[in-house]
Amino acid sequence: MVACGSPGSDRASGEGLESPLPRSEVYRVERVADDIYATVVQDGISPSRFAASLIVIRDDHVVVVDSRHDDESAQELIDTIAALTALPVGYVVNTHWHGDHVQGNARFREVFPEVRFVAGATVAEDLMSLGRQRLDEEVARVDARAEAAGGWLAAGAGPDGTALTAEEIEALPGQIAAARAYADERRSLELVPPTIVVENRFELVEGDPTIEIIRVGPAHTRGDVVVYLPDHGVLALGDLIEDGFPWFGDGFPRGWADAMDRIVDIPGTVLLGAHGPVLRDREALETQRRFTRRIAETAAAAVTAGVGLEQAMSGGEFEEFQTRYTIRMTDATEAERTERFAAFVREVLTRAVAEAAGDLEETR
Ligand SMILES: [Zn+2]
Repeated sequence: MVACGSPGSDRASGEGLESPLPRSEVYRVERVADDIYATVVQDGISPSRFAASLIVIRDDHVVVVDSRHDDESAQELIDTIAALTALPVGYVVNTHWHGDHVQGNARFREVFPEVRFVAGATVAEDLMSLGRQRLDEEVARVDARAEAAGGWLAAGAGPDGTALTAEEIEALPGQIAAARAYADERRSLELVPPTIVVENRFELVEGDPTIEIIRVGPAHTRGDVVVYLPDHGVLALGDLIEDGFPWFGDGFPRGWADAMDRIVDIPGTVLLGAHGPVLRDREALETQRRFTRRIAETAAAAVTAGVGLEQAMSGGEFEEFQTRYTIRMTDATEAERTERFAAFVREVLTRAVAEAAGDLEETR
């Protein structure tokens, strides 16, 4: 089977994304409280692919938490806001630097020239270095795939030397064109860094409701913030909780455990993780807290004892978390869930051991 391949992976952050769906068919709007709305993915679409946003309508402006992954998806969010209120967007808060939370900033600035971007300290730096690098790498990968597919078409044979079928010959030009268009669109994406930097806590007090932006990283990334609306008990958590496996690739497991300890002290009752539905209980919060702490403690003990990953894993007792983190593997067998969960624990523990051994890059 020959295919040019989907231009992006299944995650908008860092790895990019190509969806054949119009953006209006990806997201739905959920009313969270008076003048507070969330955009989350529609039923049947994996929430790991698209980040949720929070919309808060205040006295004379709107605050948005997370700006989505590109111009088009940001425009759809702007259109959604315009259908709710005529007020302009005054602030965009980026919970962290990953592309699916920040790459819509440019469109917001274009439509609302006065808008101010707020994020944790280090987000601007990470966005303009790591964020830029990941975009460039993604574009290069897509370019290479399109180039290779052009070669197969010219040769009439796929990468394994077998002749292309009539269907493949018919399908490849369209796939190549889609890949090139996607790469061009990603190339032209402008990264707009936040200008209001949150070292510890930043409060939007003028206007109603009050909005607290609390720096909790290093956790999922080193600069994470959460957004808390004390009048309504609403807490937007970025990628600190997910409906499924949380992603530790840029994470700091011990820092994440410390962050969860702080977050559980915030008395929010309506929780929005960026990759999942609006939650009206705190179970996911408590589970994530216990999981990250157990990972951090297991890693620290392994480093102290000088034991390897296998021994650390077997002594870690993570089974109780499997149901929660494999929640989206609805079609999988129990054996597949167990295998996938074990791989996840191995990845996270590997990073936690590096952190415990002092081998991760410096955290602030
Ligand atoms: Zn993220």
